[in-house]
Amino acid sequence: MLVSAKEMLQKAKAGKYAVGQFNINNLEWTKAILLTAQENNSPVILGVSEGAGKYMCGYKTVVGMVNGMLEELKITVPVALHLDHGSYEGAMACIEAGFSSVMFDGSHYSIEENIAKTKELVDLTSSKGISLEAEVGAIGGEEDGVIGGGEVADPNECKMIADLGVTMLAAGIGNIHGKYPENWAGLSFDTLDDIQKLTKEMPLVLHGGTGIPEDMIKKAISLGVSKINVNTECQLAFAAETRKYIEEGKDLQGKGFDPRKILAPGFEAIKATVKEKMELFGSINKA
Ligand SMILES: [Zn+2]
Repeated sequence: MLVSAKEMLQKAKAGKYAVGQFNINNLEWTKAILLTAQENNSPVILGVSEGAGKYMCGYKTVVGMVNGMLEELKITVPVALHLDHGSYEGAMACIEAGFSSVMFDGSHYSIEENIAKTKELVDLTSSKGISLEAEVGAIGGEEDGVIGGGEVADPNECKMIADLGVTMLAAGIGNIHGKYPENWAGLSFDTLDDIQKLTKEMPLVLHGGTGIPEDMIKKAISLGVSKINVNTECQLAFAAETRKYIEEGKDLQGKGFDPRKILAPGFEAIKATVKEKMELFGSINKA
């Protein structure tokens, strides 16, 4: 059964580790992430962007697929199904469809409007036992066509949003979605420290986990980050292994054209990437 991300993240924050949010795109992605979480006894959050939701036919299809897998793969570790960077309407649709967690990204609104809309969703999600992630300060890079400027959040605005009663808070601290540029300035740990001091027990979320050096990830966790989003890294691993399979001509040998064979190396690559992240985040055996 899907669970809210609240308990797993509060435990992570108290235990100084982080739970990974791994974004899904299809059946292979979802199965790879769920099996890896189960094998490593780790809690996990499945992230679905609005674009990925559309790609998979819609949120009801996603909920049906994930619930079916939890049962048929006998998944017993805590799993949250989470809308990533949701609009207000997207969050409402996911709540309706059976998601156990949603993000409302109001970072592109004025702080007043972000507060007003987030507050409405706090009331709705808390009455249904669904966790809610809010965002202050746009994350740089591109996420499904939404381009953010790589801002650093205002810690006082973070406190205002945290005080509304959200479950977890994403704050821009110089992190970027996708691949990091050569001249990236790194994470702003001073900002993170200020945010944590003001928001106290609030689990903080680090977006754009792909390509942040390991020592920075560990430092961010020590400063209150308890959820880390991973998306691009699984895509790169999947693409590299699929390319290798085709370039080695394996699809031309015997029954190598079988889609289940073609997708197998990429599937294994996602599993390896997810396991590596769970080790780095410290979530193994924390289910
Ligand atoms: Zn993000």
